[in-house]
Amino acid sequence: MDSNHKFSPESLMMSYGYSPEWSEGAIKCPIFQTSTFVFKSAEEGKAFFEVAYGLREKGEAEELGLIYSRINNPDLEILENRLTLWDGAEDCAVFESGMSAISTVFLEFLHPGDVLLFSNPVYGGTDHFIKHILDKYGIEVIGFYPHQEKEEIMEMVKQSGKADKIAMVYVETPANPTNDIIDIEMCVELAKEYSTDERKTYVAVDNTYMGPLWQHPLKFGADLVLYSATKYIGGHSDVIAGACLGNKEVITRMKTMRTFLGNMAGPWTGWLLMRSLETLKVRMDKQAENAKAVADFLSLHPKIEKVYYLGYLEGKNKEIFDRQCEGAGAMVSFDVVGGEKEAFKLINRLKLIKLAVSLGSTESLIQHPGTMTHAGVSEEDKEKLNITPSLVRLSVGVENPVDLIHDLEQALSKMDA
Ligand SMILES: *Cc1c(COP(=O)(O)O)cnc(C)c1O
Repeated sequence: MDSNHKFSPESLMMSYGYSPEWSEGAIKCPIFQTSTFVFKSAEEGKAFFEVAYGLREKGEAEELGLIYSRINNPDLEILENRLTLWDGAEDCAVFESGMSAISTVFLEFLHPGDVLLFSNPVYGGTDHFIKHILDKYGIEVIGFYPHQEKEEIMEMVKQSGKADKIAMVYVETPANPTNDIIDIEMCVELAKEYSTDERKTYVAVDNTYMGPLWQHPLKFGADLVLYSATKYIGGHSDVIAGACLGNKEVITRMKTMRTFLGNMAGPWTGWLLMRSLETLKVRMDKQAENAKAVADFLSLHPKIEKVYYLGYLEGKNKEIFDRQCEGAGAMVSFDVVGGEKEAFKLINRLKLIKLAVSLGSTESLIQHPGTMTHAGVSEEDKEKLNITPSLVRLSVGVENPVDLIHDLEQALSKMDA
């Protein structure tokens, strides 16, 4: 027997980081619905604050004591410890939304005069923050596109005259909604080119689209991994939350910023996400299996023009995918034959699949990127990113795949009517 056996994250999600003796033997971590924590003595309170405010280094075995739920809370701390297991991260910080985690990364790691290099397309909220909020703080941005090679991006940065100001490379991959892949290792190499002895250029990856199961950016040298925990991590369309993972140093910075922005998640959210994590692997495995069945069905249907699914990549995209991803995920986008009218017809005729934005949940969700999630994207960028009027995006859930295919088939069968 192997005495060094390491349990898999899915086996540890029910118990890791919690001890029943803390709570009268309760097998589950209770909801610590409390704003503040009682110190055993004034000396203890003093010691906790010294560490929390960085007045002295934390001792070897010393934990940050519980003080006040804006700073820390058992439901958040245990959740954060569990989340680190999937990405092999040293530490994690949980936020009240994905946007909150993302905006906190920008506010903590970018300063006036800095330049942010980012991949297109990014999530609509992120796109707005990058293009309309960062400039209020004197931060400039340069966007690049999937398919652009490292040399091409470097030439573009050089032309801008701002190469010495690049403070962060921000990446979202695969690209939403068309599943184009961006090479994380290439982005790490780019960041190395712009790092100096005085200032490191950080790499942050929004990994929401692949969830904690199918892509692990830290393994490829990224510094920060971001999640909208509203998606696969929560997985039941009933909670909004976000997370950021990385080494101790970067997450300590994130947690300090979080303390002062006050955008941590509450204990109830922490508890809900711990419950969700117990089934993360089985949910995501089933979703991926269903997505393959649905993509295979759609790709053979005469009323479907093109299917964007990570399992069907070719060429350079496929080469990066094989190196970088551990599964094809549960997102399938497709062009119906025709235009917006035909796309709407299909969506409106579905009986089981729900018309809603968001993704990664137990129920299948369909939406029309051109007029919904990506309505704010310029016509020029829509063209570049293949966001056509006939494009539909489907997030595949855990239903019986026979029912999902039946639903799509019955909706497609009357397209000419
Ligand atoms: C949903 C989403 C976000 C934003 O997360 P919220 O939890 O809604 O704030 C960010 N990035 C991606 C890729 C998303 O899908």
